[in-house]
Amino acid sequence: MMKYALVTGGSRGIGRAICIKLAGMGYHVLINYRHNDAEALATLQAVREKGADGELMKCDVTDGAAVSEMLSAWMQSHPDGYIEVLVNNAGIRKDNLMLWMTGEEWAHVLDTGLNGFFHVTQPLLKNMLARRFGRIITIVSLSGIKGLPGQTNYSAAKGGLIAATKALAQETAKRRVTVNAVAPGFIHTDMTGQLDEDELKRLIPAGRFGEPEEVAGLVGFLASPEASYITGEVISINGGLYT
Ligand code: NAP
Repeated sequence: MMKYALVTGGSRGIGRAICIKLAGMGYHVLINYRHNDAEALATLQAVREKGADGELMKCDVTDGAAVSEMLSAWMQSHPDGYIEVLVNNAGIRKDNLMLWMTGEEWAHVLDTGLNGFFHVTQPLLKNMLARRFGRIITIVSLSGIKGLPGQTNYSAAKGGLIAATKALAQETAKRRVTVNAVAPGFIHTDMTGQLDEDELKRLIPAGRFGEPEEVAGLVGFLASPEASYITGEVISINGGLYT
């Protein structure tokens, strides 16, 4: 039977690497993104090069009604299948000191990370619980563990996701649905493109930024049957950066 995985924010960066990893594990990959059609198509192409298939699921995860409509339509057209792996990866940053932060900067980051998690996860839970197998993996951040200055909004979103992960894991464990979070440090993507890498890498014991594929490797493991007894965990992947 076809196995389905959904990756939010799958058009670029870490999300794309996760789509490719899951394709290599035999998943049909549903690639969600917000507006970058060309990049999403490039991800789909890369999924196909792995010998798997996938489809684009363009939808803004901040829009609960639109997400619910998209997922219901998908479920109706796939009565025999269900999304057994969900990777909540969509996220944005809008850094600013709290002193200067606007309500929009606060709300948009929380809406994407934290509310997006609820909008996508809630409709998919029922099938995972009924079929007694599911994997929910959320990409959080070092920022959500230790807090980083200039990121009160982002730290709040990621910290909230960590707490939600721990709570949800306890609700679903008996039905073999595991819920975990992966907390990267600095990874080479568009999100970190503007940062001063030479300065920052001196703080990292490994002496370098990580690659999206390294994060995808961990996500692939958590999605695999081998990770069946790991739940409610937050696993850091940051080259030894002290947390
Ligand atoms: P990225 O390169 O900026 O890509 C962000 C992805 O999220 C894109 O696919 C984007 O779609 C999608 N997205 C953004 N807002 C969305 C929305 N409202 N609805 C649907 N999709 C949306 O980011 P990244 O660096 O790969 O980060 C991925 C995740 O890892 C994020 O949750 C981020 O917070 C986390 N993270 C990253 C790092 C790092 O160093 N890079 C470190 C720690 C945690 P479009 O292409 O359509 O815009």
